[in-house]
Formats: sequence, C-alpha cells, structure tokens
Amino acid sequence: MSPITHGMIGWIISQPLEKRRDRIIVTAASLLPDFDGAGAIASIDYYARYHHIFGHNIFFGLLLTLIALKFGVDKIKVSMLVFISFNSHILGDLLGSGHGWGVPYFWPLNKTIYEFSSPFQWELDSWQNLLVTAFCIVVIIIIGVRRKRTIIEIFSIKTDNKVVAIFNRWFRSEG
Ligand SMILES: [Zn+2]
Repeated sequence: MSPITHGMIGWIISQPLEKRRDRIIVTAASLLPDFDGAGAIASIDYYARYHHIFGHNIFFGLLLTLIALKFGVDKIKVSMLVFISFNSHILGDLLGSGHGWGVPYFWPLNKTIYEFSSPFQWELDSWQNLLVTAFCIVVIIIIGVRRKRTIIEIFSIKTDNKVVAIFNRWFRSEG
C-alpha cells in the first residue's frame, strides 16, 4: 500500500485523541514501518533485501508503542492507538503490496514470512488499493465537516483551517 494511504488510515485511527500532538504520533506510527525501505536511496540491493524486515515486525511495533507512552500526552490512549496504527500498516501491506512482499511479523525471533493469498492479496497498483484510498478520502472529508480538522493538520494548522472552511462551504451551504 502506498505511504499516502497508510498515513490516511493512521490519521483516521488517531481521531479519538484530543491533542494534535497525539494524533501526529499515531499517524507517524502508520508510516514509520516503511523506514526500512529508505535504504533504496543507498542501493536497490539493500532495498530488495531489507524492505519489510526491520520495520515490519511486532517488536518494532512495540518499540513505537513505548515511544508513544513516553512522548504522548494522553499516554495510555495514544500508545494503544499507536499499536493499532502500526498494525494497520502491516495489514495494509499484507493485503495490498502484491505477491512476494510478505511480512516476517515475529522477526528476529522467528523468521517465518507471512503472506496472504488471493482474494485477500492484491497488487500495489490495483483497483482495490484505489478503492481503499478513495474511501479514506471520503472519511477524512466527513471528519473535516464534523470535527473541523483534516489530515492537513499534520503539516499546518493554518492550511488545515482553510481546507475545513472549503469543505464546510461545499457540504453545509444550505445550513
Ligand atoms: Zn510497509
């Protein structure tokens, strides 16, 4: 699944949290597993060998959970949602990364690579992934109208307020 979709799912999961800082932490947890793909910058060989290893196992998820417990405001809630957000990334990859991109979920304790099979597995550039992305956009717009915030808040509150104002003009013009 593309990082944008992972990020949108993470931000949607973060919605029970009051503080923007906590929502940013939970959104980050949905993106960080792919740091193990950053080696692509150094070498394609590295990428092929290590993408889906270091960042795609439960221990990395637990590490993120501990970090959230330390830096979050609403500590218990944010760490629980971080763990869910991390796992949403794993599930997204199992479903929508295509064949040959399994996840060694218990690495390094156990090197078994888990992989779904059709129909619960589809390619990266598939209509299923597009559908998931489109669904996330709809949910984000609904949150924007109801709670007056969108995923843009991660980058800028000012821009986010402008986007929320636009959504409200579109969807509440009769009110
Ligand atoms: Zn991934």
